[in-house]
Amino acid sequence: MRRRDPFDVVVVGAGVVGSATALACAREGLRVAVVEPRVPAAWHADAQDLRVFALAQDGIDLLDDLDVWGAIAPHAQPYRSMRVWDAAGGGELCFEAQRYGRDALGWIAEGALLADRLWSALQLAGVTLRCPQAVVGIDGDGVESGDGSAVALRLDDHSTLRARLVIAADGADSKLRDMAGIALVRHDYGQRGLVAFVQTEMAHADTAWQRFLPTGPLAFLPFRDGRSSIVWTLPDAEAARLLAVDDATFCAELTRAFDATLGEVVAVSQRAAFPLRRQLAERFVAGRIVLCGDAAHAVHPLAGQGLNVGLRDVIALRKMLRAARMRGADIGAPHRLARWGRERRSESAVAAWTFDGINRLFSTDAPLPTLLRGHLLGLGGRVPGMDGLLWKRAAGV
Ligand SMILES: Cc1cc2nc3c(=O)[nH]c(=O)nc-3n(C[C@H](O)[C@H](O)[C@H](O)COP(=O)(O)OP(=O)(O)OC[C@H]3O[C@@H](n4cnc5c(N)ncnc54)[C@H](O)[C@@H]3O)c2cc1C
Repeated sequence: MRRRDPFDVVVVGAGVVGSATALACAREGLRVAVVEPRVPAAWHADAQDLRVFALAQDGIDLLDDLDVWGAIAPHAQPYRSMRVWDAAGGGELCFEAQRYGRDALGWIAEGALLADRLWSALQLAGVTLRCPQAVVGIDGDGVESGDGSAVALRLDDHSTLRARLVIAADGADSKLRDMAGIALVRHDYGQRGLVAFVQTEMAHADTAWQRFLPTGPLAFLPFRDGRSSIVWTLPDAEAARLLAVDDATFCAELTRAFDATLGEVVAVSQRAAFPLRRQLAERFVAGRIVLCGDAAHAVHPLAGQGLNVGLRDVIALRKMLRAARMRGADIGAPHRLARWGRERRSESAVAAWTFDGINRLFSTDAPLPTLLRGHLLGLGGRVPGMDGLLWKRAAGV
């Protein structure tokens, strides 16, 4: 790319957040390039991806606006109710889409399905795809120096990409975040999220279930083929043990942990476990570089909100870029980005600490927290309208 001809936007990382950001920018009429080291695997209905997301309504609205939801929805599963309760007893929180005049509370979709549909849309939208390639450095008149009108990124094939705005969406271990000199506040939970598909005796009834155990929450999410996708939060050593046991032992232990709520667990797929951490970048912006998604923040998955918070970064960014373009202003002007960064960081910090607090309160069998959480769930269930308010907040509507 010649120096006098920069892209409007370069997005680094084509996970769901990076791809949605790139597509949003392209739909705004901007010239966009994406750098991604791994070619996304094509999605097939019969080769399911263990990474499954509960998508909130505002994220779905974004994907719909970007014209990709239509290609995702036929393979996704709506969930119409949600039940949350504590193994130690007390009240139960219950959410029903019908009560809020909705058809669904949200949708369950595989990560690979979202990535595949977004990748195809990027190709159709004429976005320049530099894949497989990675960013290895920030060059020349980069973050704060030079004439300040663009950032130059060095790629691993020795080429350079210049852009007025660079989006770092390269995940929780973001290299670009480090290159931009942005520090990170990080806490390892010492827990893993064990994921798998399971077949249960009883139907999932389009319901997302979450039981809090002293070792961590256990979620059963309804999947499109009648099975459930589980996310079982466990201490590291316990997760390692449950990855290693045979299927029959695993199913028996899972049935017990879930109190046989859907009857016996009769079959399990492959299993995988992801380390859980809370992370928050000290700032989301450095000059013309902004962090989005897990590069900026990672939250405990107990509320299924990590990707949803990332998609909210995209929604806010799109609004800001649109406003700047309507005024004919520079889309990467550092003062404008800094305002976006402050707002997004403050919302992400609230999410990270809220889920952190819930995890602490529920992942213990100490008497006082046990009493308190039973009361809290009961209160949430009894106060009229409270469930609706909680759901609206989680759904971003
Ligand atoms: C067990 C578990 C369950 C979860 N369940 C949910 C849920 O139900 N709902 C929900 O909303 N969230 C959930 N999350 C959170 C969710 O997984 C993440 O928030 C989300 O995947 C982050 O997306 P991302 O696009 O920001 O990052 P990633 O998905 O990590 O994508 C980063 C991309 O950047 C690329 N990349 C890496 N390095 C470079 C480089 N140097 N140059 C260029 N590209 C690079 C990678 O190849 C990748 O494509 C869960 C998380 C866990 C651990």
